[in-house]
Parts: sequence; structure tokens; C-alpha cells
Amino acid sequence: MEEIFDLIIIGGGPASMSAGIYAMQTKLKTLLIERNTFGGQIATTSSVDNYLGFQKISGEELSKKMYEHLLSTNIKICNEEVTKTILNENIKQVFTHNNCYKSRTVIIGIGTSIRKLGVDNENKYLGHGLSYSTLNDRDKFQNKCVAVVGGGNSAIEDAIYLSEKVKKVYLIHRRNEFRADRKLVEMLYEKINNNTQIELKLEYKPISIVGENEINQLKIIHIPDEKIETIDVDGIFVAIGRGADTDIIDINVNRNNSGYIITDEQMKTNLPGVFAVGDIRNTPLRQIVTATSDGAIASISALNYIKGNI
Ligand SMILES: Cc1cc2nc3c(=O)[nH]c(=O)nc-3n(C[C@H](O)[C@H](O)[C@H](O)COP(=O)(O)OP(=O)(O)OC[C@H]3O[C@@H](n4cnc5c(N)ncnc54)[C@H](O)[C@@H]3O)c2cc1C
Repeated sequence: MEEIFDLIIIGGGPASMSAGIYAMQTKLKTLLIERNTFGGQIATTSSVDNYLGFQKISGEELSKKMYEHLLSTNIKICNEEVTKTILNENIKQVFTHNNCYKSRTVIIGIGTSIRKLGVDNENKYLGHGLSYSTLNDRDKFQNKCVAVVGGGNSAIEDAIYLSEKVKKVYLIHRRNEFRADRKLVEMLYEKINNNTQIELKLEYKPISIVGENEINQLKIIHIPDEKIETIDVDGIFVAIGRGADTDIIDINVNRNNSGYIITDEQMKTNLPGVFAVGDIRNTPLRQIVTATSDGAIASISALNYIKGNI
């Protein structure tokens, strides 16, 4: 007979893993689908120092602890990419490349996606000097020159880390002040004052990458006077934030103008039995603590929906 789950959770970040733990506590027959590494964004974060109970922990370690906790519930997990969802019927359908899974309720916890630079031929240089701030690529540029683009926590973290490894770091930011945490900005200026090789390029933005197969140069424009400069770099780290990418989600699910899924405080979307959690929903704060809280609330809401209480 065809298997129908009580709940399918899409994603394996903190929001979804928390939803999974609560779903198993409430005995919902649950399937959790993750396309990549469990832990989501935190799996790629060097250090987390604001999650209750852990004064300082690496993102990798925190992800591992969350994943082990999730596994201890004996939840059914599959490592596949969701490609399409039909959610406006009583039995919802969640498609992956090879399967179609069915369920009474669905929790969407797909997080956000990295924003690209938006310059010509960007994809050509991916893996050939261009990186979207993944920890894995950071050690490739010993004694070389690199550019880091962005003004948030990731960009500053990358610039500080790289300054200890490479010959020179250009930190390129389109504004004249950083939106990163004050502590990180202070650390950055401390590094600069200590003569490390960081050069700030404030009020600049990249316009094109130069290089045959590998990156040789980056053209940047000074926004106030539109003057173009060329800097010699072997690598470019892009850390300009993240945005909502909900192409795989049924078009009947309401989104706001920025593409984030609209929910109420029970994590309900406009479609009955469909919930959204964590960074992908219209939330005032995108952090681990809010993501895990959303996950807990959504699973209880899914249970109440199945019982006919909401
Ligand atoms: C560099 C960095 C540092 C951060 N530091 C902190 C910090 O110190 N403290 C803090 O509280 N927060 C921090 N955050 C924010 C925090 O990581 C996020 O708020 C949190 O991870 C959101 O959880 P989530 O589960 O909603 O989404 P995510 O963590 O983005 O997880 C979503 C998951 O869904 C999966 N997925 C997406 N699409 C599909 C699909 N089609 N099929 C199957 N699976 C899919 C993804 O692979 C991913 O694993 C940081 C984020 C970054 C990027």
C-alpha cells in the first residue's frame, strides 16, 4: 500500500531538525528530507557564541550535536533534493529527483540561498578562484591576493581569517560602514591597525572579473564618482548575504515582496496543513534560536491540524 506520512519536513537545518524532534515526541509519522549536509547554514559557520547553553562552539560541532539528537529519535530521514511540491490538496506531494512522497502535512524549512555578485561570466569562475565564502576554499590562496566582497558578519570573518593566510586582502563593500556585529568590526580595525594586509575599499562594487581560465583581476567601481579601478587578485570571496529561493514550493503558498513565505504565529501558511519555519519565513530575526523555536511550534501546529484542532 502507498505510504502516507503524517508530516514531511523539507530541509535539515536547525529549524527542521527541531521540528523533527518535536514531531517524533508527539508520535507523528514523519519523514525529513535534506539535500545536503545536516545543519544547514551553521554547518559552514566557524563559530557560534550566542546559542543558549553553548558559550562558544563551532558551527560544525553544533550541527553534529543537533543531528545526533535528531537521529536519537529514530526519525525517518532521506538525503534527496526536493524538486517540486503540490501542497494545495489534502494529501500533499513532495517530489525529489526519483521519488514522490505523500503526507497530510508539510513543514517547509529550506532556509535561504547565497546571493551572487551578478557580474558577467560569474559561473565560469566558480571553483576557479570564485567562492561564496565556503570554509573549504579558504586555504587555497596562501601568499596570494584575494578580494572579499560584502559588509556583514561573513565578509568580515572571511577578511580577518584570510589576512592571516594570504599576501593581501581587499575588503570591498558598497557602503561606507559595515552592518556586521560591532565586535567583529572592532576586530577588523584592530587587525588593520596592526598592519595586517587588509585594504578597505569602501563605497566600491565589483563590475567584472578578468582572467582566461583562472581569476587574474577584478574591476571595481567607486560608487560616488563612478571611477573604475582594476585590482590584481587570484581569488574572490563573495559574502553579500542571502535571499529567499522558493522555486520548489507550490506557487499557491503566499510569499511577501522579498519572496519569504508568510506565516502566522503558529507557523501556518495560507494553505491548510502547510507550515514554514526558520529563515525562509517572514521573520524579524534569522538566527538559530528563532529557527529552532519555529520548528517546535510548527510540529505542534501540524499535530493540532491532524487532530482537527486548527
Ligand atoms: C556565516 C553565518 C554565520 C551565522 N552565525 C550565526 C550565529 O552565530 N548565531 C545564530 O544564531 N545564527 C547564525 N547564523 C544564522 C543561522 O545559521 C540561521 O538563522 C539558521 O541556520 C537558519 O536555520 P534554517 O533551518 O531555517 O535554515 P538553514 O540553516 O539554511 O537550513 C536549510 C536546509 O534546507 C536544505 N534545503 C534547501 N533546499 C532544499 C531542497 N530543495 N531539498 C532538500 N533540502 C533543502 C538546505 O540544504 C539546508 O540544509 C549564521 C549564518 C551564517 C551564514
